[in-house]
Amino acid sequence: MLYLKTFIEAGYVKSKDIAYECKPGFLKESYIQEIVSEKFPEVSENKILHAVRNVLETLPDEYKVLVEANVHVSKTPVLNPMIKDGVQICSLPSTTSFFYQMLVSKLSREPKSVSRWRLMYADFDLRKVQKIMNFPFLQSDCREIAFKFFHRIIFTKERLFKCRITKDSLCPICSTLPESLNHLILECTMLTRFNDFVKNFLHNILYKSSDSYINDLSFEFMCIFGLTKQNKYINYYFVNSVLAIRRFCIVKRRNIAMLENKIIDIEQYFKSTLVKNVNYAYEHYKRNNALQLFEKYYSENNPVLIIRDNQIQIDF
Ligand SMILES: [Zn+2]
Repeated sequence: MLYLKTFIEAGYVKSKDIAYECKPGFLKESYIQEIVSEKFPEVSENKILHAVRNVLETLPDEYKVLVEANVHVSKTPVLNPMIKDGVQICSLPSTTSFFYQMLVSKLSREPKSVSRWRLMYADFDLRKVQKIMNFPFLQSDCREIAFKFFHRIIFTKERLFKCRITKDSLCPICSTLPESLNHLILECTMLTRFNDFVKNFLHNILYKSSDSYINDLSFEFMCIFGLTKQNKYINYYFVNSVLAIRRFCIVKRRNIAMLENKIIDIEQYFKSTLVKNVNYAYEHYKRNNALQLFEKYYSENNPVLIIRDNQIQIDF
């Protein structure tokens, strides 16, 4: 029986729930950490991993030998899924992880957009991008836009024109070039000034990390997917909030231009949305006695965020 409250509440009750880790390929420690983190986001990932390793360290060698010997699967029914006309055409290892992976591969397939993104960006990491897209602290509108972007299902003018819904494919903001996905989020000439402002703002948040870390980052990649590389000197969550809100404001401005024929000031819109979002989060976590989560997602390692008289100010 485990004596770790966080683990027990996250569903890991006995040491055997974790111990199968010592059988390679069964349940990786990062999966255990993800499940515990989902229930207790305030507990640091390293602390959880450390606890898992501690449990594994305490396992007697005899137990490890027992697990390696496949004794733990001896009670499961014998499955022969590859038998055809009474002939076994392939012998399968009877591990739970093998059957689980087989089931997942049968029931799911990679989104079509993934191969496109991989062609365009060599360092595209599906797992990391999906994690960023679904951060629980992001407002739902931002998550929705990130989802549509990731799956390349935003109805840009280029796409609407192909479907013969609009008379031309021109960007509704600059009216000079076709509105593709990259044009909408990054390349429009009417975004140049705003992009410079965001770059400068990000630099003010990231400056405490090393030069090599900052130089490795691609502004283009971050604008599309978010920041995937973590670093202990920066608030990785806040940077991703900023990037998600940037994406949200751009798409919203474009929709307003399309539907109401008005072009709003993107920089002002971004600033007010970010301030509103951070203040809302502060009130939310305060009311739920979870200010440690506000610290984790917003204020920790964040030189641009100032809390004064219970109000949040952002130094743009
Ligand atoms: Zn444009």
